[in-house]
Amino acid sequence: MKITYPFSLEAQIAVGFERLQTLYRSLLQQQATELNLTALQIQILSTLHTYPQGISINSLSHHLRLTHATLSDAVSVLVRKKLVNKRLFPQDRRAVVLQLTPKGVQKSGAASHWIQIISESMSSMSLDQKSNLLRALLQIIDQLKSFGMIEVARMCIRCSHFRANVHPGSDAPHHCSFMDKPLRENNLKTDCPLFAEKILGNS
Ligand code: SF4
Repeated sequence: MKITYPFSLEAQIAVGFERLQTLYRSLLQQQATELNLTALQIQILSTLHTYPQGISINSLSHHLRLTHATLSDAVSVLVRKKLVNKRLFPQDRRAVVLQLTPKGVQKSGAASHWIQIISESMSSMSLDQKSNLLRALLQIIDQLKSFGMIEVARMCIRCSHFRANVHPGSDAPHHCSFMDKPLRENNLKTDCPLFAEKILGNS
């Protein structure tokens, strides 16, 4: 029997992502056990960490691609454990905003073990290699977002504050109008809390 296997460059990269995802899931489970939480609760804490101003449960379910019902129980446990606060949204008293408590911020920091491990694995790469990798990842996420396969992509290249190549010839060619700061290629963000969605028709 002839065994076929996807050996194209793209397929090999996709398989690499799959290996990383397996590692991510196993580290998440390990962290969850150590912190006496579930993997989903850790994911919620990590996500809330990137929304310091708070986020509604609807937006959270959008971000994690999970139903409201799946999230509700996990959020209730986090509220009972005093890791998450629920408060009413000032502009709409019917909407509830979720936000980390100081204890939740501490736990979410401990839950970022995955980021440390991946960062350490890149320690022998040059800055150029890491910048190219970041740019390629941003392009992949951007395409998947365009296909509707990724819900939330709070990246510079999709942000209304992003001004691409407005400082040509400089080592920081881009600009963030929100922070009023030039951006290098390696400063581009994959998940920025200051992100603002582009209004259709705006550049
Ligand atoms: S606000 Fe954040 S995502 Fe938007 S351009 Fe500035 S750094 Fe990038």
